[in-house]
Amino acid sequence: MLKNIDRLLDHILEDYNKWGICLQKRPKLHVVEERTQSNFNYGSYVHAAVILNPNQKIKRDYDMMYRIAKVVYEGTGVSKEKIQEEIHQKIKEALKKSEKYMDQQGDIILYPDFFSESGKITADITLAHEIWHIVEDGRNLITNSIWSREGSATYASYRLLEVVHANTDQPFRGRPFSHFAHPIHGLYDACALITSKYVEQEQNPFQALLLPSIRAKIEAECEQELFKRIREFYVTKPLEEDSKDLL
Ligand SMILES: [Zn+2]
Repeated sequence: MLKNIDRLLDHILEDYNKWGICLQKRPKLHVVEERTQSNFNYGSYVHAAVILNPNQKIKRDYDMMYRIAKVVYEGTGVSKEKIQEEIHQKIKEALKKSEKYMDQQGDIILYPDFFSESGKITADITLAHEIWHIVEDGRNLITNSIWSREGSATYASYRLLEVVHANTDQPFRGRPFSHFAHPIHGLYDACALITSKYVEQEQNPFQALLLPSIRAKIEAECEQELFKRIREFYVTKPLEEDSKDLL
């Protein structure tokens, strides 16, 4: 099984190479037997996760979750202390669960469902997505924006693999927030769609994605749109103080 995945990885790296996107070293794949977390799958939506520096990554992602949480809770009457307590608890759990992966050398962690047929996202899209994270990390394009980060990796995977709509053969670049039951579910695809507006017409959209000036615009629009949707969502569905299903 890993042999096939290795070949797939080679293909994807070659495809990125054609756009002048090269990694310093070949990412090492590592298969784990279980997910590190059940609820907060930071790093990946469905199948795999990149864990280059777990502590830094978790902190960064949770900083973002905290910012989103603040928007979620605005106007809902839930106290700030409650938010802090919940986020701190989740950070603690995440760090504890990731400890056992700290010594492993994998750049891309593959969860068991990566190999299942039932996943919504295919292996090539997942690998192309995770590799894009490594590309950005390698260039120190550390953005504090989870939406820009996930939107660009999702866009890059669709663009690289020339994913098309099933019926129309038109390029598929994601779906708008309105297609999702909860704005957070749309974070990947809707932010990819926003991203596409800024880079799709560029001669080399992948290089364009790495330009800080373009990224700043993408980041701003993704954040504005996401936060607007979250506010709208919770106006119609206010949170309960003891809700465990927050984000
Ligand atoms: Zn991702």
